[in-house]
Parts: sequence; structure tokens; C-alpha cells
Amino acid sequence: MLLRFTPDSAFVLASGGPDQIDAHPDANLAERIRLPGVLIPGLVNAHTHLDLSHIGPLPHDPALGFGPWLAMVKKNRATSAEKVRASVVLGARLSLAGGVIAVGDIAGAGRAEPLEALRGSPLSGVCYLECFGHGARIPSAVARARTALAAHASRGSRVAIGLSPHAPYSAGRGLYEGLAATGAPMCTHLAESREEREFIATRGRSGQLHDLLVGLGVWDDSISESIAGRSGVAHIADLLATTPMLLAHVNDVDDADIAALARAGAHVVWCPRGHRYFGRPESVGPHRWRDMLAAGVNVSLGTDSIINLPPQDASRLSPLDDARLLFRDEAADPGALLRMITANPARALGLDPRAFDLAPGPLAGLGVVEAEGSGDAARAVMASSAPPRLLFANGFSFAEPFDARFPRASPWITA
Ligand SMILES: [Zn+2]
Repeated sequence: MLLRFTPDSAFVLASGGPDQIDAHPDANLAERIRLPGVLIPGLVNAHTHLDLSHIGPLPHDPALGFGPWLAMVKKNRATSAEKVRASVVLGARLSLAGGVIAVGDIAGAGRAEPLEALRGSPLSGVCYLECFGHGARIPSAVARARTALAAHASRGSRVAIGLSPHAPYSAGRGLYEGLAATGAPMCTHLAESREEREFIATRGRSGQLHDLLVGLGVWDDSISESIAGRSGVAHIADLLATTPMLLAHVNDVDDADIAALARAGAHVVWCPRGHRYFGRPESVGPHRWRDMLAAGVNVSLGTDSIINLPPQDASRLSPLDDARLLFRDEAADPGALLRMITANPARALGLDPRAFDLAPGPLAGLGVVEAEGSGDAARAVMASSAPPRLLFANGFSFAEPFDARFPRASPWITA
């Protein structure tokens, strides 16, 4: 690969084999560096909750349902500003250790620390502020979101502020509409579980999620009137058609839902390891990511929070590990998998997807993976179990040969 460096970025002049490189007129002027392994673009993790990183992986029995899991997270999650900030810093380090240079992160309701911590890190992307509320609580939730947007405008920052109505059962239709009207980048958890399907199908009047709202003291009958359609996707399909949205999970869909997602130009981020952790294969079946891609939906892979990762994977937060799972267990196409952790999620986060592949053009970051084999680089990366190692990202150097080009990202490198 032949690169040109500017003070805060890199540009690929030529890529491919030695013949393609040497054919470039600038090739004989270039300094040559030999790197062991296969080069990869910086990775993008479009769905994570970095503020939960301090908790680490926790076991969960899917048969108990969502309520006990939520209670476990509530009990363990940091509440002080200092600890939330430290947890996001830890999450940023684990992301970089996983070759990730951009994230779609969910910040807990009312918290500015995740956004501030991310803006102080070498990462780029979007930090979505989580919003909850039904019925009479909606106007104040929208007002708080508008105040946060005004206080943390994205101007010139590598990390934009976005908004995330949590999910159809915890955020009313009116909240989705009020947040969409701000024009901020939007993300939501959608069509995640069988329980959510039941909530929508009964217009919120029965099931575990109904009981959860009653238990929290936030159920009111107006919720029923605002629920439309027969599925999570149908419930907000008309809004999706006018508001580009990043949709996390989308585990439970039928053909009509997939067609609606494609028509709306929605972006889906699926979390394969989380899918297993929450027992989704048994409760809602296999994820239909291949059908979505075939229909033209932009599908990415994300990690979700560290809580749902296998303990042996928790030294990094990397969607490459999710891609490798699909390579191994679903014989997925390695090139498609690589796009689902680079250019696809970049597009979903409003970043320039061209900066997340190795073709001539801008390059946001570069990593290397120790891998066997030659020819098909994506296949070698997916077949390897070696961690990705970042070389440079977003104007920071992570490895010695690039220290002359960019400032060293020393405090962010985990051993
Ligand atoms: Zn999530």
C-alpha cells in the first residue's frame, strides 16, 4: 500500500500487490515499511454501551427473561460522574485494543460524561444520549434532549451527539417523533425480542414488558393508543421513512418488515454474540441479516455492551470477534463480513465510508492482523484468532513507524 500523510489524516495513493504500488509515479520516492501480517482498515463498532465497561461480562439465564437482566445491570452500573467517565475511558481503550476507531455509543439517560470522555479519546463516531418516557413524560424528555444538544453541539468534533429513544416499550411514539424533529442523528433498539413483539401485538396491555412498566410506575393507558402496527418495525415504519435511523438488533422481523426497512433506507446493526447471550436463536430464531443485505438494507455488526461478551473475549471490544463467529459458524462471506465492520457501520454513523476501506482515497485508520495465507486478505483475517493491532487512527499514532507522522496515542494503548 502506498500512503500519503497530511498533518491529521492519511490518503491511500495505491493499494494491492507490488505491481500496482510500483506503477504509481510517487512509489520510488516513498519510505518503505515492512509490517508483519495482513493490513485492515480501522474498524467501526456501531452499537455499544461503553459506560457499562467497568462491569465486565456477567452470566445470564435467558429463560428468566429481560427483567432480571435489567435489574442486574441497574445494580452494577456506575452512578457517579467520575465512575461513568472512567468506565467510558476503559471502554474506549478496549475498543482501540480491538482495532476499533469509530463507535456508535449509547450514553445513559441524562449523562454528558460519555460524550465528553469520547471527545477526549482518539475515537470518532456518534454518542447517542438515551431517552425514555411515555405519555405525559414525553414533553420534558424532549426538552431535556434539546438542552443537551444545545450544550454539546457537534461542530467540528470527531464525536457527534445523537439521540436514542431506548425502545418501543420504553419510549412512546411521541418521544420518537419529538426527538426526530430535532434533526440529531438517531438510534434505537428495535424488534429485539419476543417480549417486544408481544408488547406491540397487545398494544402494551400484557406480557413481561407491560409488567415492567407497571412495576416502574410508568404505565398509562395512553400508551396503547400510540402503538401502531403488528411489529416493532411497523410501529415506527412511517417515521423511518422520513428520519434516517440506526436500528440496533432487529432480531425479530418478517418479510414485510425487511421490505419496509429497505424502503426507508434504514441502517441495521446486529450483535451476534449478544444474540446468543440473550438466547435469541431459541426465542426468535436466526437473524435475517443475509435477507436484509439482499433487500438492500445497510447491515453492520456491533458488540453491544461488554456484559454480554464471553469472558474470554473481554480483553477487547471488537466487532471483528462477531464477524469471526459468523465466518466460523455460518460460513459467511469474509469480504461481506469485513464491510459489515468497516464501511457499512461508517455509513450508518454518518462517517465517510471511503475512509474505512483500503482502496485509493482517504483512510481514517490502519491496523494489522497476524494471519496465515495469502490472496484473500479478508478470509485470512476472519480465519485468524489474532487480535487486530492499530497502527494509526484519526490523526494519532499507535505504533513506532507512524510516530513521525502523528502524535502518539500513548495513554490509550492497552498492553
Ligand atoms: Zn444496546
